[in-house]
Amino acid sequence: MTYQLICGAEIHIELGTKSKMFCGCKNDPFHAKKPNIYTCPVCLGLPGALPVPNKKAIEDCILIGLALGCKIASISKFDRKHYFYPDLPKGYQISQYDEPFCTAGNVDTSYGPVRITRVHLEEDTAKLQHATVDGQKVSLIDFNRSSVPLVEIVTEPDIKSPEQAKEFLKKIRDIVRSLGVADCDMEKGSMRLEANISLSKDGSLPNYKVEVKNINSFRYFANSLATEFLRHAEILDRGETPIQETRGYRADTNTTVSQRTKEDAADYRYFPDPDIPPIVISREWVEEIAKRLPELPSSKIDNLVAMGIGESAAKILVSNQAMINYIDRVKTLNQKYVQEAAKDIVNKKIDYLTVTPEAYIKSRESKSADMIFEPSLLTPIIEQVIAENPNVVADYKAGKIGVIGFFVGAVMKATHGKADPKITTKLLINHLI
Ligand SMILES: [Zn+2]
Repeated sequence: MTYQLICGAEIHIELGTKSKMFCGCKNDPFHAKKPNIYTCPVCLGLPGALPVPNKKAIEDCILIGLALGCKIASISKFDRKHYFYPDLPKGYQISQYDEPFCTAGNVDTSYGPVRITRVHLEEDTAKLQHATVDGQKVSLIDFNRSSVPLVEIVTEPDIKSPEQAKEFLKKIRDIVRSLGVADCDMEKGSMRLEANISLSKDGSLPNYKVEVKNINSFRYFANSLATEFLRHAEILDRGETPIQETRGYRADTNTTVSQRTKEDAADYRYFPDPDIPPIVISREWVEEIAKRLPELPSSKIDNLVAMGIGESAAKILVSNQAMINYIDRVKTLNQKYVQEAAKDIVNKKIDYLTVTPEAYIKSRESKSADMIFEPSLLTPIIEQVIAENPNVVADYKAGKIGVIGFFVGAVMKATHGKADPKITTKLLINHLI
């Protein structure tokens, strides 16, 4: 029996705002010198503390939604999502349930579009650390991360292969990075991935899905799809249905292990947070936020290709803002060196971090100032090279057009590399006819 992979993704991204989601504490959990230094009654979850939403975080969430082609709600609200875990002292997480900021977006991949169901905002939890203190195994809680703004991007089950998953996730990362709202560092955990996986015989949605958590790289995400595919196929081949559950991905063994049976929304007993009034999003506000939209990676690639840069080079360039800035500067200084600069950067012939675009152009200009373009200067050399090599001329006339390279080389040698290769080739062809 052959099966079709059906996968949706849930992507959590920590925003890089100055303060946390619902309090004024510093949002910098990765650089904090000690645990629990960026805390207050709100992010410690003390009773009676009142959350106040971070306007910048809301704008960043809407900006991500706009970049992913989403509709932006005119009214949105925060809800309480109840569950118990030691890293969540309130007993609930402030999240968004049925009225998220953004819905119905779309991201194209070369394997087909992936629809974005929603983009919403919530608070991150504290971080558990398992350690041994005085010979005792203990779990410690660091609240520096508690209530850090967290954007969740949820997709429709449109991902059909591990390759498509990788392309899609990289695209999301590049888009969000280009907005300057998050660093999306998977190693630190500021971008985290979950996969909802099932198999179908005919492409229709199956009656079960397995959620895989703890995925911290694009490769592991793709691996988890491949390994779950085999596990589900085996169960389905036996005529059974895989259990609807949450599993954790283990990179060391490339396997998933069962963690718990999956909750559904009713288990979380969502209800609107009574401490936070609904948020009205005027069109004027959305238009103001939209002004921050930079050129997105796909359109940047198109523009680079339009400048004569090859598509594979353009894809490398757009993944690195410093490279793009370099090319933009070269373009401003002298457009005719853009293609050469792109090639030199991609082929690591210049170090774009140390050689300034100004110095680069200067070196190109002095090189071309030395070049011989004048046909009247090149023609005598060409005539001499042709006269000295009658056998190669005969080869050329017999149809071996490739020998033109031999003549160009000979002219280069005679001019110590100063002959302009394009003009030299043109003159040679005229002389050889
Ligand atoms: Zn706080």
